[in-house]
Amino acid sequence: MPELPEVETVRRGLEQQTTGFEIARVCVHRARAIAAPPFDPDGFSQGLTGRRVLQWQRRGKYLIAGLDQGHWGVHLRMTGQFLWLEAERSRQHPPCRHTRVQLWDPADRELRFIDTRSFAQMWWVPPQHSVEQVISGLQKLGPEPFAPAFNATYLQERLRRSQRPIKTALLDQGLVAGVGNIYADESLFAAGIRPQTPCSHLKAAQLERLQQALVQVLEQSIGAGGTTFSDFRDLSGTNGNYGGMAWVYRRGGQPCRRCGNTIERATLGGRSSHWCPSCQH
Ligand SMILES: [Zn+2]
Repeated sequence: MPELPEVETVRRGLEQQTTGFEIARVCVHRARAIAAPPFDPDGFSQGLTGRRVLQWQRRGKYLIAGLDQGHWGVHLRMTGQFLWLEAERSRQHPPCRHTRVQLWDPADRELRFIDTRSFAQMWWVPPQHSVEQVISGLQKLGPEPFAPAFNATYLQERLRRSQRPIKTALLDQGLVAGVGNIYADESLFAAGIRPQTPCSHLKAAQLERLQQALVQVLEQSIGAGGTTFSDFRDLSGTNGNYGGMAWVYRRGGQPCRRCGNTIERATLGGRSSHWCPSCQH
């Protein structure tokens, strides 16, 4: 599942490849790819046709294209991915059965959206609406991990009365935007905190370490082009390489890279968690 670093990698690829992209034609293959209400696939296609992409932004795991009029929102969910095809490749490669949306510019260059699991969503935001009005999920997002508002004081304030395990809290997009299972496990390892620890038990110094660890782990993964854990691909179909550096994620039963003890694995809040029993307390 793409998390913040993967979505950021996609954003950078889209910005590089599609800034100035003129949407001349749109084809929606599966209605479910378009979030409704308020817009059906026809409304989506009509809204985007004739628009030009000015820039791409990311908020949590949402991608938002600023158009010359209005906006275009995308959430990759589990398996959504964009592919860029030059005109010749676009003609030679007909859409596969997982292709959900195709967009072409006047020179027949194509931006193709593929989604095997079919949970991804897109939104057309008309100029008279704010992005938050149409993409309501944005209203519930907590601060970005890199924002100054995401600091130890904020975490203390939000977590001091919570009995939830810290791992579960980190996955809550309302606490901090963009973090998923991989980076929650990896940052808890880096901060030396066990995933099961109730939030209210965490000391100020631990929260300080956690905030720093999270930022560091995310930055490192963005630098590496996203992870290899999922079937994540960037616009050119390349896999990132953070996987080679994982300390605990999906390493249950294997020796800790730091101390040699066996990494443990358990299900917490419905998600698998991985930690080292001697490096994390
Ligand atoms: Zn260890």
